[in-house]
Order: sequence, then C-alpha cells, then structure tokens
Amino acid sequence: MSKIKKGSVCKGNKLQEFDMTNTDFTKTPVTFRMGNEIIHNPSCHILCRKSQSFCPSCMQQRRTLMVQKCRAQCHNTNRTDPTTTVSYKYLTKEEMKHRMETLHKQLTKVKKQRDRLENKIKTLIAKQSLSLNQNDHNDLKEIVLNECDQVTHQTSLHRIFWEQQVQALKKSDSRAIRWHPLMIKLCILIRHQSQAAYETMRQCIRLPSQRLLRDYTH
Ligand SMILES: [Zn+2]
Repeated sequence: MSKIKKGSVCKGNKLQEFDMTNTDFTKTPVTFRMGNEIIHNPSCHILCRKSQSFCPSCMQQRRTLMVQKCRAQCHNTNRTDPTTTVSYKYLTKEEMKHRMETLHKQLTKVKKQRDRLENKIKTLIAKQSLSLNQNDHNDLKEIVLNECDQVTHQTSLHRIFWEQQVQALKKSDSRAIRWHPLMIKLCILIRHQSQAAYETMRQCIRLPSQRLLRDYTH
C-alpha cells in the first residue's frame, strides 16, 4: 500500500495518439486503462513514480512509437505532396484525397495572389499611366526598331564578317585593316586546326595574316 501511495498508475500509450492509416497499429493488441484504449505492453510495470506519467517500459515503447509515427507521417506527406512524382494509381483513396485537397488549397492561394497582382497593376495604370498620341507612338516604334536592329547585329558574327570583308576590299594595304576581335578569334581557331587550310582561305577572302595572328597568340 505504501508503494501505491508513493507512485501513480502508468498511463500507457493511448492508441488514439499513435493510430494512423497505413500502419500496423490497428492490428496492435490493445487494452483498457482508466477509460482509455492503450497499446498493450506486457512489460508495463503498472506503477510508476508519482512525478511521471509512464513506467520505464512504457516510456521505451513510447519512444519507439514516436519514431514510427514520425516515419509514417513523413512517408505519407511525401506521397501526397503535389510535387511528388508518385503516380495516383499507387495511392490509397485517403492519400489521393489528401493530395487533391493540398492541390486545391494551392490553387486557391495562387488565384488569390493573381487577383491581388491584377488589382495592383490596375491601380498603378490608373494612377501613373500616360496616354500617347499617334506621333509619340511612331517615334517610340522607330527608336525601338533601330535599337533592336543594332542589338541584334552587333554581336552577329555574320554581320561582322561581311562588314570586315567590305572594309578590307576598300583598302589596298591589308595592314591598314582594323580587325574585329571576333574575327581574330575565329581566324585563330581555324588556323589552329589547319595552317594550310587557313592559307587557302586567305587566297579567296580577306583574312588577317598568320603573322598578325601569331602576335595575338604569343
Ligand atoms: Zn507502463
């Protein structure tokens, strides 16, 4: 009797706390204690220290159950997460339902975000926009087209190649030609692959001399 006075009854691990779908807990033998359905533990000491809720054996069981629960939850979350690659055909009805619900929540969230942004843009247009007349429009169009033309061709090797050919043809002395860095790069590459082929090409088109290319590579 004195032992009972000093201690309290072990609560045991409630089935409800660890009962999850897709686990074997539903098959676990259960017992009733203090009106609760608890997971049966044959090693339960029944009594424990007054300051504690579980006996050492049930505490050990609890730790194991916690780890299992965590693993099961993690597994379920991954399978039902909308970003998962797990096919619907491998999911249980519950998992499908969970995934659909998550998808629905995300869709609603995205729709709200879209509406907020739409309103923000409408407000900005109403407050800060300027109306352009036909002349403004034409000027702007011309500027954009000219800029676009320059940007597109400035880095175009074809354009540079033909421009350099025209420049070279206008000059009798090849040493007076200022070669574009891209042309130099291209020629170094071709010459590196075959000096003979490069020399043959030089007989047909105007290209930097091999001596000049050597200056760039040495
Ligand atoms: Zn116990």
